[in-house]
Amino acid sequence: MPWVREDLCVGCGKCIDVCPTKAISMKDGKAFVDQAKCVNCGECMPACPEGAIRPNAENPMLAGRAGAAMDGQGMGRGMGRGMGRGMGRGMGRRGR
Ligand code: SF4
Ligand code: SF4
Repeated sequence: MPWVREDLCVGCGKCIDVCPTKAISMKDGKAFVDQAKCVNCGECMPACPEGAIRPNAENPMLAGRAGAAMDGQGMGRGMGRGMGRGMGRGMGRRGR
């Protein structure tokens, strides 16, 4: 399935016109491919003047390698904090 490189997309909407299944919509000024509607016909890729629609093989998220195409998409952060505190106190008595 094609996907849109948001850093290349200029929001011209040409891909929306050529898609036979209306799988592409505009989200925040960028094209977005609804993978559930896309039939992988490939029409949108040559239609994009910016080359922003890329084949699935280049999708860093699906390929499992966070590469240069993932500009600032912050995934996988913010976990693993806030545990492991507050235990191990209050045991043992200190006499005089
Ligand atoms: S590959 Fe075809 S169906 Fe899928 S988004 Fe592009 S034009 Fe639409
Ligand atoms: S044709 Fe290319 S630049 Fe234009 S809206 Fe679609 S993905 Fe973006």
